[in-house]
Amino acid sequence: APVVGVLALQGDVREHLAALTAVGAEARAVRRPAELDAVQGLVLPGGESTTISKLATAFGLLEPLRERVRAGLPVYGSCAGMILLADKILDPRSGQETIGGIDMIVRRNAFGRQNESFEAAVDLEGVSGGPVHGVFIRAPWVESLGAGATALARHEGHPVAVRQGNLLATAFHPELTGDHRVHALFTEMVRRAD
Ligand code: GLN
Repeated sequence: APVVGVLALQGDVREHLAALTAVGAEARAVRRPAELDAVQGLVLPGGESTTISKLATAFGLLEPLRERVRAGLPVYGSCAGMILLADKILDPRSGQETIGGIDMIVRRNAFGRQNESFEAAVDLEGVSGGPVHGVFIRAPWVESLGAGATALARHEGHPVAVRQGNLLATAFHPELTGDHRVHALFTEMVRRAD
């Protein structure tokens, strides 16, 4: 089974580990550079992107993450993870860095405040069997998408799922729904990259 890590600095790590296990991956928490070296794919969970970026710097993971992404590691980022995969944040907080890799500019908390979080059916290209139930929690949207990246889904006209090569990002949280099709899609990307 492909070894797929979940960056375990902050955020909803357990839910991603469970979803990956359910689709047949060997799921592992990643907190150290040596653990990162051992995975064939990586999930960046939802949570708070500024906190995750600062912890990644403190744990000596930010540069190794950038290097693995440049070297073609398949990475899936959900919500805060989508922000971490963006080449640019429109409204970064001070000290907030991204790993980058997807040619896009994201706007944080774009769909509203915490109490305005919402759920919506999302038609996701590459996923069959009907729309995915999108759970959006202070979600980012993609403000602009570069030529190298493709929108796989939109909500209110904004891309909310994006792919660029081995990188996949969603503004929503499939790990909270019990529907593992997005994790299955990503695990398939990991299998093919090998
Ligand atoms: N608003 C968070 C951020 O900016 C993301 C929220 C989430 O991951 N659910 O990092």
